[in-house]
Amino acid sequence: MGRGLEHGQVGVRTVTGPSEPDGRRHAEGEPDGRRHAESVADVIASLTREVPDFPEPGVQFKDLTPVLADRHGLAAVTRALAEIADGADLVAGIDARGFLLGGAVANRLGIGVLAIRKGGKLPPPVFSQTYTLEYGTATLEIPGDGIDLAGRRVVIIDDVLATGGTVAAAAQLLAAAGAQVPVAAVVLELTALSGRDKVAPLAVRSLQTI
Ligand code: AMP
Repeated sequence: MGRGLEHGQVGVRTVTGPSEPDGRRHAEGEPDGRRHAESVADVIASLTREVPDFPEPGVQFKDLTPVLADRHGLAAVTRALAEIADGADLVAGIDARGFLLGGAVANRLGIGVLAIRKGGKLPPPVFSQTYTLEYGTATLEIPGDGIDLAGRRVVIIDDVLATGGTVAAAAQLLAAAGAQVPVAAVVLELTALSGRDKVAPLAVRSLQTI
């Protein structure tokens, strides 16, 4: 499969975060002696799988599964998201790919992770928020007991910002629990859907935009 070759090349590159002065960083210790740097946005673009008409006709689904399954892709995305979340007391990952990203980022920063679950998965009491998706509606929940979020700085992490309803709902949940949310960080932002307008005034940082 052609994309397999394309993905394989990422394994010999060193990837960079978005916050270097010129967006690039020289490779360190390339096994083959090459010093070929690639931006995190390039890695995301090269590994993201485009799935037309999923889960409904008209939706161009951006599947980041191959990014997370690639060790360099996961490392690059984790490092870049951790730079954004640096200073947080807690990372909150949104169901479900946000769990993977949030756990990796939290571990890198030496802090904890909160899973923002889909509705009906957590035992009561819960904070619950129902919202509109690019396709359909959904409910997000966080525990209403057992975790003291009051006054804690919590950075939201998810894979894709589409219409912004998911991140906005997550922010509302965290606010209801008393947390401060300084920023939301996503891997990929679909700018045509104006998600950051819906999330405002909460700031959104994305590693790649389409
Ligand atoms: P939204 O609330 O519209 O911003 O949708 C964001 C959430 O839905 C994220 O958790 C994504 O996983 C998922 N999502 C929505 N649209 C897409 C898309 N076009 N490609 C991939 N994931 C999407």
